[in-house]
Amino acid sequence: MEQLQRAIIERGSVLSDDVLKVDQFLNHQIDTNLMINIGREFVSRFQDSKITKVLTIESSGIAPSFMAANELDVPLVFARKKKSLTVTDYIYSSGVYSYTKQEMNNITVSKNYLSSDDHVLIIDDFLAHGNAALGLIDVVKQAGASVAGVGIVIEKSFQEGRKMLEREGHRVESLARIHSLEGSKVSFLEELATK
Ligand code: 5GP
Repeated sequence: MEQLQRAIIERGSVLSDDVLKVDQFLNHQIDTNLMINIGREFVSRFQDSKITKVLTIESSGIAPSFMAANELDVPLVFARKKKSLTVTDYIYSSGVYSYTKQEMNNITVSKNYLSSDDHVLIIDDFLAHGNAALGLIDVVKQAGASVAGVGIVIEKSFQEGRKMLEREGHRVESLARIHSLEGSKVSFLEELATK
């Protein structure tokens, strides 16, 4: 997705050989036009999948997922990282190790919002080692629902997340695939010039 690749190049910053900062358009300040187009791109990739719900994880997954769910005309559910006082024991939960914060989070989703009838599109901002996506898949399985696929805004293809998901038979659609962040330079699997 060219608009996204341009945003990464022009407005992203490489923090280390394996961490990209995208606070300017995705993780803090949000480029709403870009999010609308990201939503449309996810929909075009999963349009034949008969999705009934979009599932993401707070907080950075919400903006791109909101636009996809709106286009698909289905509800958006986000997993919470901290247990809410208003959600009692009626929850699905899964342990997820956070790559950027280097801590374990117990993600939770109320049983009211996922059921065995659901066919779920999982969306997240980044795919690194696959822990967040696998935690969300675990929650979907606990509900007896099915996974339509995993939509990722930015995949770091040099980490093993895609392999982990594909090994379990999941379809992964990433809108930007980063081959390397070495030397403070972002290089994509498919460079802009080849598009
Ligand atoms: P994973 O669970 O696949 O190891 O990592 C994905 C999660 O970690 C995402 O939800 C995202 O919030 C965070 N993350 C992983 N790598 C990066 C990165 O390079 N930059 C940012 N901003 N977040 C990342």
